[in-house]
Amino acid sequence: MRLIFHGPPGVGKGTQAERISIVKKISHVSSGDLLRAAVDAKTEIGLKAREYIESGLLVPDELIVNIVSDTINSAECEKGFILDGFPRNLSQAKVLDDALENSGKILDRVFSFTAAEEVIIMRISGRRMCKGCGAHYHQVYSPTLKKNICDKCGSDLVQRKDDYPETIKVRLKVYREQTEELIDYYNQKNILVEVNCNGNKADIQQSILAELNSMLKRKSDAE
Ligand code: AMP
Repeated sequence: MRLIFHGPPGVGKGTQAERISIVKKISHVSSGDLLRAAVDAKTEIGLKAREYIESGLLVPDELIVNIVSDTINSAECEKGFILDGFPRNLSQAKVLDDALENSGKILDRVFSFTAAEEVIIMRISGRRMCKGCGAHYHQVYSPTLKKNICDKCGSDLVQRKDDYPETIKVRLKVYREQTEELIDYYNQKNILVEVNCNGNKADIQQSILAELNSMLKRKSDAE
């Protein structure tokens, strides 16, 4: 099963990707996490990507395309994957098409997540991350037991620089200008499924699972 979770930053696609990947036993590939790991490890790519990430802009394609292609071709993605945050523009989508075609694989579904902008801003501004283990929290929706201390490893929580209010506005603008058009691209391929994210996480998860299960049923009926 090969899926893309597409949508603006803060819409909740990362949380759903994490949950669905566990239920379906497939890999969750977050391009943002891959880039942040490169930044933390101070690799050549990380050093180049850092400024773009912190200012809310997309990193140049050449810094991300190879990392994602290598990951989806690796053994850990053999059973399938959910791409979260990739592709972010048309040229990345075409690179992905070529990479899949070259390895004889197809993309099953693109879930397009939408939510009202006020909801998105509320979600992003409350987000906190553990600086030790990278666990994700939200000040309102999933707070830690002890304020600003990770429940899992006891390290301090931090706010991502690109989650600061002024950077959120840049990221939403970049989404509208460069990423949103992928909805049409995948709609034309007849693999787009819209997911309204104004509701609660459990209901959203159920609707995605229902779609995936009926897709799998149709596939096995056809075989
Ligand atoms: P995310 O965690 O997906 O919101 O990504 C955080 C930041 O990483 C983005 O604002 C971009 O600077 C960068 N990034 C992540 N994925 C991509 C991508 N596919 N193309 C370009 N930049 C990306």
